[in-house]
Amino acid sequence: MALRIGRAFGKIPRGEHYDVAIIGGGPAGLSATIYTSRFLMKTIVIAEEIGGQLNLTDWVDDYPGLKKIQASALVRSFHSHAQMFHPTIIERVRVTRFERISDKEFKITGTRGLEIYAKAIIMAVGSKRRKLNVPGEKEFAGRGVSYCSVCDAPLYRGKDAVVVVGGGDAAFEGAILLSGYVKKVYLVHRRDQFRAKPFFVEEAKKIPNIEFILNSVVKEIKGDTQVRSVVIQNKLTGEVKELKVDGIFIEIGFEPPKEWYHELGLETDESGYIKVDEWMRTNIPGVFAAGDCTSMWPGFRQVVTASAMGAVAAYSAYNYLAEKGFYKPYRPESKK
Ligand code: NAP
Repeated sequence: MALRIGRAFGKIPRGEHYDVAIIGGGPAGLSATIYTSRFLMKTIVIAEEIGGQLNLTDWVDDYPGLKKIQASALVRSFHSHAQMFHPTIIERVRVTRFERISDKEFKITGTRGLEIYAKAIIMAVGSKRRKLNVPGEKEFAGRGVSYCSVCDAPLYRGKDAVVVVGGGDAAFEGAILLSGYVKKVYLVHRRDQFRAKPFFVEEAKKIPNIEFILNSVVKEIKGDTQVRSVVIQNKLTGEVKELKVDGIFIEIGFEPPKEWYHELGLETDESGYIKVDEWMRTNIPGVFAAGDCTSMWPGFRQVVTASAMGAVAAYSAYNYLAEKGFYKPYRPESKK
């Protein structure tokens, strides 16, 4: 049976009408897709990249039911599960705008000539982990450069040393967690004051294999097939040191995508994340949001929480269509 998958390098829909457009192809977006499809809604997924932040992780061992799976395999599994229900999934397309054009529909436009209509929208555009933007960071992403200690710490069991960068809760939580797996943890922070909760700071100071390297910044990440060392510089003395390590955990916070949707009247919190209620409803009727782009559960960004939000957003989108009288079951399988 042919799948209705339109790739960006294939056919970009123009003028087609959908029940729901899901913007984003990470765990939140793909989970929402599975649920909107099971609610028999005609669904399109518009993704810049299937997998979202999962693509930045090596292994996942905290997704219920899957003891340990390579992140890329989990992405493929999410993707093929979503495809099973015959949505249209287009990749490498960026939505650049949506606008309400009637009581019933939004018009959604994007790169590569995308122009479609949808009765509801689920924003699952993710958030961006802040990057250091130093040489080696991009090259070794997934090969010793990690942006998630909680996800990847167990994979460093028995290793000699790692660097954790940052001075917030995530860096401290990561350093404390990693100290249980790795012989030496260097916590490198650009100041000597911390944003992290005092509890975390006190806790970390008591752990003998965590060494604080303060007022220091990472200049370069070096390696061969894997990270082997990190070059740091003390901002006060100018001294440069090269630390032999097996990995570097960059825990310097998140940024919401600061893009077009802020101009559309979508309410955000003070950090720029889309405000949602417990049913993933935004302030705009018919527009829902799920996953890391939302204000929900800040500081706990996990595949399982993103997936849960995606499922709830799908349910809410279905209820919205039903309440408005816009819902008509769509059965793509029967059209094959
Ligand atoms: P955060 O609180 O924004 O802290 C980011 C840290 O990274 C800061 O110390 C900052 O330094 C540093 N930083 C930012 N940009 C940098 C750069 N370009 N180079 C070097 N250092 C840089 O981020 P987070 O720690 O990821 O936490 C995010 C949110 O999640 C927070 O609300 C936090 O409370 C929450 N969280 C909670 C828990 C928990 O309670 N268990 C765990 C993790 C996260 P400066 O201080 O100099 O700006």
